[in-house]
Amino acid sequence: MNNSELNSRRVSATPRGVGVMCDFYAERAENATLWDIEGREFIDFAAGIAVLNTGHRHPRLVDAIERQLKSFTHTAYQIVPYESYVSLAEKINQRVPINGPCKTAFFTTGAEAVENAIKIARSYTGRPGVIAFGGGFHGRTYMTMALTGKVAPYKHGFGPFPGSIFHARFPDELNGVSTQDAMKSLEYLFKADIDPKQVAAIILEPVQGEGGFNIAPDDFMTALRALCDQHGILLIADEVQAGFARTGKMFAMEHYPDVRVDLMTMAKSLAGGMPLSAVSGRAEVMDAPGAGGLGGTYAGNPLAVAAAHAVIDVIEEEKLCERAQRLGHELTDVLALAKRDNAAITDIRSRGSMVAVEFIDPLTGNPSAEITRLIQKKALEAGLLLLICGTYGNVIRFLYPLTIPDEQFRKALQILTCVLTNI
Ligand code: PMP
Repeated sequence: MNNSELNSRRVSATPRGVGVMCDFYAERAENATLWDIEGREFIDFAAGIAVLNTGHRHPRLVDAIERQLKSFTHTAYQIVPYESYVSLAEKINQRVPINGPCKTAFFTTGAEAVENAIKIARSYTGRPGVIAFGGGFHGRTYMTMALTGKVAPYKHGFGPFPGSIFHARFPDELNGVSTQDAMKSLEYLFKADIDPKQVAAIILEPVQGEGGFNIAPDDFMTALRALCDQHGILLIADEVQAGFARTGKMFAMEHYPDVRVDLMTMAKSLAGGMPLSAVSGRAEVMDAPGAGGLGGTYAGNPLAVAAAHAVIDVIEEEKLCERAQRLGHELTDVLALAKRDNAAITDIRSRGSMVAVEFIDPLTGNPSAEITRLIQKKALEAGLLLLICGTYGNVIRFLYPLTIPDEQFRKALQILTCVLTNI
């Protein structure tokens, strides 16, 4: 069996809607390295789309999953509960940057966490409206598609979407949208579309992931909190992509010490590759839905919960927040050097190891998805797996495991330098 044979089988057996980036197939993976079925080796800076902050098959995770596998794999928590779910909720409640007593419920995917955060917010406030932001991404289910602020490819042909969802502008200095403009766009929604007293929640990513690693400015976050307080609206942080040490803090909201959200969604690196997501929030808010209103057959799967316990221990014991800061600095230094010789690089932004580089066509000054794809292709040919994001598809994001060995990280930076300076 080789990659090209498997590719033809894939094309006949699976729908094109499940788009696939690579034309090779995974055989095995270890920490930051992935091997394909033809024995080729890649440095994995995609990390399963921000899922592997603790790397592929961290021994602590493998051990925790194996131990759980030997006792039970599924009871359905809502039928026969287990201690590990409760203790994981306790562990997260102690760590989330939310004021007062907290509670946490577990689900399976990031989209499911967002769906449930909206259910909880509507149930608590008794209001229908939800405001999200342009460039935001929240998932592929109907509610989360409606919240997502990017049409192609996520919404094409799938409407109509749930109602009472509105979009405001996300600040983006590079493209001329200030905090003030973004706040004005919210005020405009209150004039044109919905009474603020009918808004249950405002949801945002503290660092937009799919949207291009756009960091919410401090004054924007502060202004949003004040607006929410003024109108009794809940503030929800979607930390599905930014969470679990990626930004140099356990949660991205810790970068805004003066702002506390009411609800937070998390998934991806929470369980290092096992399907698990969570909603945490103020206890009073979390308790709004009645018994049976939240949950799901697989929600809080025991194997995934065991992995999540190990993830939190690894992040703390291996000091991955500090490591995220250090690796992020090394990478941005390399990008800054490359920028001197490459007129296509227009911006480098980072929060810890949530690092992105944005490209334009130097001749026109317009966003260049072509140059971005070319860089991704050249890097892949040299054995480095990179991901693209951004509203215009002109941003490369870096999502390496935070456990990547120094030597391998430097090798990846060399490949990157070589690609960026030879385009
Ligand atoms: N929210 C954010 C911020 C995300 O980045 C994603 C996934 N890219 C989701 C929600 C949806 O998560 P999932 O694909 O697990 O449903």
